[in-house]
Amino acid sequence: MDQIKIGKFIAWKRKEKNLTQAQLAEKLGITDRAVSKWETGRSLPDASIMLELGGILGVTVNDLLCGEEVSMENYNEKIEKNLIEMVKQKEQSDKRLLTMEIVIGLTSTLFLFAMLAVGIIFMTLEKPVWAFILPVGVGFVQFIICMAFALRIEQTAGYYECRECGHRYVPSFKSVNLAPHMGRTRYMKCPKCGKKTWQKKVIGDGKTEE
Ligand SMILES: [Zn+2]
Repeated sequence: MDQIKIGKFIAWKRKEKNLTQAQLAEKLGITDRAVSKWETGRSLPDASIMLELGGILGVTVNDLLCGEEVSMENYNEKIEKNLIEMVKQKEQSDKRLLTMEIVIGLTSTLFLFAMLAVGIIFMTLEKPVWAFILPVGVGFVQFIICMAFALRIEQTAGYYECRECGHRYVPSFKSVNLAPHMGRTRYMKCPKCGKKTWQKKVIGDGKTEE
């Protein structure tokens, strides 16, 4: 998808409707900075907002995604192209997120051990007790925050796949949090067939991510 072209199209249609960026933003319940980012091609409107945006600008979602008013004869072909493109983009962003999870996990673990080491060094130097507690405390707090963040990424990026029925779904944060796991494979109850199995993390194309 051509973000620059889409941005120019949004700006053009907005002006045609005699709306300022701020007025359009207000109608959508978002910031005018977000609108400015679309129009300069720095980001795309969220999928959740596309329909409403199209309604306000008097164009279809397909037009929005193409960055032009699509003629009727190649309408379906363009819809399919846009759909495939969107799925591809989600896969790529899921992959990036899962890489970020690993980076966060590793950095945070290293930092925790570094803080433990600092605490132990202070202790052997016979510094007061807070000189041990403070770094170790900081280490643990950042570790817990980073782990919660990493878990949140793991919950939302891609899908878990049931071994029994093949159903793919995004579980709740709580069920991911409480599930025993080996790497990213988690023992959870499938919301479709109700069986508890070790469920693998998959990304759109069905390739297993370990
Ligand atoms: Zn199942």
